[in-house]
This record gives sequence, structure tokens and C-alpha cells, in this order.
Amino acid sequence: MIDKARIQENVFLGEMNSLAIAARARYFVSVTSLESLRQALDWAADKSVEPLILGGGSNLLFAGDYPGLVIRMAISRRCWEHIDGDEATLVLGAGENWHDVVMYAASAGYRGIENLALIPGTVGAAPVQNIGAYGAELRDTLLEVSALDRHTGQEISLTNSLCHFSYRDSVFKHEPGRYVITTVRLRLSRSRPFSLGYRDLADYFEGQDTRDLTPLDVANGVMAVRRRKLPDPAQLPNAGSFFKNPVVPLDTWHALQRTWPDIAGYPGDDSAKVAAAWLIDQCGWKGYRNGRVGVHNRQALVLVNHSGGSGGDVLALADRIRSDVEARFGIALEMEPGVVGTTPMH
Ligand SMILES: Cc1cc2nc3c(=O)[nH]c(=O)nc-3n(C[C@H](O)[C@H](O)[C@H](O)COP(=O)(O)OP(=O)(O)OC[C@H]3O[C@@H](n4cnc5c(N)ncnc54)[C@H](O)[C@@H]3O)c2cc1C
Repeated sequence: MIDKARIQENVFLGEMNSLAIAARARYFVSVTSLESLRQALDWAADKSVEPLILGGGSNLLFAGDYPGLVIRMAISRRCWEHIDGDEATLVLGAGENWHDVVMYAASAGYRGIENLALIPGTVGAAPVQNIGAYGAELRDTLLEVSALDRHTGQEISLTNSLCHFSYRDSVFKHEPGRYVITTVRLRLSRSRPFSLGYRDLADYFEGQDTRDLTPLDVANGVMAVRRRKLPDPAQLPNAGSFFKNPVVPLDTWHALQRTWPDIAGYPGDDSAKVAAAWLIDQCGWKGYRNGRVGVHNRQALVLVNHSGGSGGDVLALADRIRSDVEARFGIALEMEPGVVGTTPMH
């Protein structure tokens, strides 16, 4: 059984979620190994309370205090395996900081995750929504995930195909709470081509001879572009993109284009991603502020907590935005962060 002294009670989570919602955990523990994770889960089962796995809290919205046990993943590990010509496998503990890992791999000359620089959070949460940015996704490099399967109590391995990755989605979202990711293995390469096609990134590197770029140059470029567009949660609390870009069939996309010729989106072979930011901006929400919470003035997809907003304030604003977009475009926006916490806040 886990050492009782390590379980804390009534812990303030305001600094552990990027929206800075002032929620509390009834019980809280930080785990640094598979063994302590197992013990924490057993402790929760014994107490009949629900566990919540917490990484960096950058994709969660606390609607209220959390009535169970918050388990903060702090398993650290970084090592290289199977270095083979230009390729190598980077093995990572779930508690590693994602951005630090990107810079670590890029500094070592390995390519594959440089476009994902500056995405907040932990390595263990990255597969959950198949993090993506600037034309790259985690699934492009993920080899396999080790996870504790709570149904069987066993640590299992899930290869890339078993993770069922798609846009901001994976098996971990479809079977919430079943798997706790402990280790992530990425296959990186010193020679794979960079993905510089996304407009902002292409604009940033315009005029440069991209043949000379290193992965660190690309990561730095991505960081510069992101800093221009996205508010830093340390300065202005937010959860990044609050809504997913809706995916619509191509004929719907063409119909939308006929009505709204300047609609922004990313058409693919059989479907199109509509830019949710454009839809929200058209409804006049960009820069809106109602005192405690609002919509960022440069990026309509980002809801911000200006000062002391509660989870309920953010959800109420999100609802109003969603209704407006649906009424105008007939498109239902889906929230990206998961909503947790049920009991009213103190
Ligand atoms: C400013 C900003 C910019 C962002 N930009 C992007 C972006 O460009 N692209 C993008 O995809 N996302 C982006 N995000 C969202 C967020 O950074 C990612 O979703 C990130 O992977 C969340 O990591 P986390 O550790 O903070 O997860 P948390 O918020 O702590 O948890 C998210 C979910 O994963 C679960 N979870 C956490 N760790 C584990 C684990 N080890 N095993 C199983 N489940 C786990 C949690 O229970 C929860 O359901 C952004 C967020 C912010 C604040």
C-alpha cells in the first residue's frame, strides 16, 4: 500500500492547470514510478474514489473541485535505444516535459518532432490526443506506448496502429481511464525531410535555403511563429485551442465555400478541416471579454482566464460561442480540453 503520508488532502490545483482554474483535489499524489502508480490506483480503489491522471493540466478544464484522487504523473526517463544508421528510438517517461524533449531531440540532430515545439504538457499525455501542429502529428514518429491497463492490472505495449490515432484522437480517448501511459517510444531520424508546408512556417522560412536547416532551426522557427500567435499560459492562462477544427465531407466544404468564399480551412482528399478560429471570428467573438474570462484578441480559438474565472465561467462562454457558430454555419464545434471535477468550488 502507498505510504499514507504521500497522499495529500485538499490540494490547490490552480498552478497545475494552464487555465489557472482555482479548483482543489480532495486527494493528491505525485507518482515517479510504475510501482507508485499501481499503489496510488490501489489506494483509490480501496477508498472507493475515482482517480484522475494529471500531466501538465494544459488540456483539462476543472468545472469544479475534484472529489477523488488526482495522480500527477512524474515518471522521468530519457534514453536512446536501437541507434541504427540515421535512425534511433528515443525512450521517454510519461512525466517528461514535452517541449524539453523536442529541444533535446532536435539538439541531438534528430528530426520528426521539431514542428511540435512549445506544445505544453507531458510526454504521457501527448498520445492521448495525438498532439499536432504545423502539419505534423505525434503519430508520425510514435513507435509504441507502454501503459498500465487498469482492466487487467498489467503493463502492456500498444504499437502505433493499436493506438488508433486520428486528428486529435486515439484509443486513449475512446476508452477513457482504462490506460495510464507510462513510457513513450519515438522513432526519429537524422535525415527525414522537414515538413515546412504549413503557411505560417513556409512564410517564416521564405527566402532561406531550407537545405541547410537543422532540426533546431526548425524548432526555433516554430517557437517564433507560435509566440507571435498564441498567448503564453504563464502570462495569460489558457488551454490552447479550445475547440477542434471541425472535419466535414468535401461536398459540405464546397457548399460552405459557395456561401462564404473566403472561408478558411484545409481541404484533403475526402474531407476538409474547417478553421474553427475563422468560424468564431466571423461570429464576432475575437477579443470579447466579460470581466473574468474571454476570447484572445489575436486568436479566436483560444479562450482565456483574465482574472479569477471559474470553470463554469469558461464553459458558459464556450456554450455561447458554440451556439452562435451552429446557428450561423450549421456546424457543431467540439471542445478540445476534457472537462473534469464535479463538486461546486469553495
Ligand atoms: C498554450 C497551449 C498551446 C497548445 N497547443 C497545442 C497544439 O499546438 N497542438 C496540440 O495537439 N495540443 C496543444 N495544446 C494542448 C495540450 O498542450 C496537449 O493536449 C498536451 O498533450 C496536454 O498535456 P498535459 O500533460 O498538460 O495533459 P493534461 O491536461 O494533464 O491531461 C490531458 C488528458 O490526458 C490524460 N492524461 C495525462 N497524462 C496521461 C497519461 N500518462 N496516461 C493516460 N492519460 C493521461 C488526462 O487524464 C487528460 O484526460 C496546447 C495547450 C496550451 C495551453
